[in-house]
Amino acid sequence: PFELRGKSVYVAGHRGMVGSALLRRLAREDVRLVTVDRHEVDLCNQAAVFDWFAKMRPQVVFLAAAKVGGIAANATLRAEFIYDNLAIAANVIHAAHQSGAEKLMFLGSSCIYPKLAAQPLREDSMLTGPLEPTNEPYAIAKIAGIKMAEAYRSQYGSDFISVMPTNLYGPGDNYHPEYSHVVAALIRRFHEAKVAGAKTVAVWGTGTPRREFLHADDMADACVHLMKTYSGAELINIGTGEDITIADFAGMVADIIGYRGEITFDTARPDGTPQKLLDVSRLERLGWRATISLEDGLKRAYEAFLAGAPVPAQ
Ligand code: GDP
Repeated sequence: PFELRGKSVYVAGHRGMVGSALLRRLAREDVRLVTVDRHEVDLCNQAAVFDWFAKMRPQVVFLAAAKVGGIAANATLRAEFIYDNLAIAANVIHAAHQSGAEKLMFLGSSCIYPKLAAQPLREDSMLTGPLEPTNEPYAIAKIAGIKMAEAYRSQYGSDFISVMPTNLYGPGDNYHPEYSHVVAALIRRFHEAKVAGAKTVAVWGTGTPRREFLHADDMADACVHLMKTYSGAELINIGTGEDITIADFAGMVADIIGYRGEITFDTARPDGTPQKLLDVSRLERLGWRATISLEDGLKRAYEAFLAGAPVPAQ
């Protein structure tokens, strides 16, 4: 096992949903946390990243920084999604190598798997077929990051690992009405409909796609577990192993929020990939399972939404 105790640990992306969950989780470990704000070091700026790493020399790196968004953000901000995510991966991974980091974890995404790959998605299905077009630029950048981690492991012996989370949600999510992911979008839309006494709420697409959802705090716990226990070139999926249709999911969010009106489906909006359920058998063999049920997680996410002002756009 890899000893985290006493190490300097850099969380890239600490203001994001996953990065902030990692900070909460790492506060329970005996480590020295290092973070830097975007206005000081823009992770897309190669020179700034290289200088900062040369000065700080973090021993452990969680690469949770990314330009992210829901299906509409991915489909429209295509240039930003590929450029920012390629730059962040290239700069941070290379800087970690140059400055002698002992271990790095790269966070990918389940959208790196082919659109029509066999379900549940096994790690070895990466690069076996065409990607879902709505998020291809993002997926290509994430695949590049995975391949970088793998290449640095094989050429330099770097202990760089990659994990693939399923769809994540939780406190600090982005509630932008157009660019958010489905969980944040529906929490906000059903809440606003309840407050306004609206009689209908439109959910995007047909309602038939299936998605798997993992709470950010479970994600952070899995990342820390794998950082300590896993070393290898193979990807590790992180999910619950269970999925639900968007229609059923919408009904669940409506119940938790207390919205009692009608739910309609806006089929002018895209469905995206029909299903992306992760095969989590590798993760389970490594000794980790999700503990936050979707219902409890949604209740917690709704409380966090009510407690804080909605996070602004990207
Ligand atoms: P994806 O998993 O990459 O497709 O990301 P999303 O979280 O954006 O979308 C998941 C699924 O939820 C897709 O089938 C969407 O069409 C559907 N969906 C339903 N309503 C919404 C909504 O209001 N916002 C988003 N982003 N997706 C929605």
